[in-house]
Amino acid sequence: MGNRKERPYSPVWSRLDTSYLDNLAAAGVRPEDVDIVVNTHLHVDHVGWNTRLDGRTWVPTFPNATYLMTRRDFEFWDPANENRSVLGRGNQNVFEDSVTPVHQAGLTHLWEGSHRIDKNLRLALAPGHTPGSSVLALESGHDRALFVGDLVHTALQIAEPETNSCFCEAPAESRATRHELLGHAAENNALVFPAHFGGHGAAEVTRNGSKFAIKEWAAFSPIS
Ligand SMILES: [Zn+2]
Repeated sequence: MGNRKERPYSPVWSRLDTSYLDNLAAAGVRPEDVDIVVNTHLHVDHVGWNTRLDGRTWVPTFPNATYLMTRRDFEFWDPANENRSVLGRGNQNVFEDSVTPVHQAGLTHLWEGSHRIDKNLRLALAPGHTPGSSVLALESGHDRALFVGDLVHTALQIAEPETNSCFCEAPAESRATRHELLGHAAENNALVFPAHFGGHGAAEVTRNGSKFAIKEWAAFSPIS
């Protein structure tokens, strides 16, 4: 979410003061050490820590990073383009305080189609939840993982992949993308990492006819 951001249409997310950067420091990560930031999409709750307030100015939180975002989402959410959204004004202020500052600092890379970060990490478009939503695929040896952003918000959408969240901009496209990517994960034994699951946070999925099921939750300690 970021700290101290004005979110008039999401009061519970407004003017927050969280310990995110302290938590990163406790994990041994300094902001200047971060070289890549991935925005799977440009919703309010996925871009907030792109920037922090320095005096009265929003500045990049990670000054040495390249911020990866899709050109499609960048253009869709740019207020200058006056696009309508199912969020209504739910993303108000977000582009201005969390996207424009990193773009003006020359830190964004607006990719199209797909983008390879290195030999193990690759981004691909996964449209529907937002026009330019994306997923991050990790391949290491025989291990596979798929960071799916908001392709699913709850485990219900694995069991019932036809079910969209109320935040999906393009319902039919969102369903098709969910089917395709959960199918890909099931067939390739890729661990699925959604952005909003609590507890273990990631799961192996299997195909169950036209639906899917959780085979096993990842063996992580629950996040407290
Ligand atoms: Zn979202």
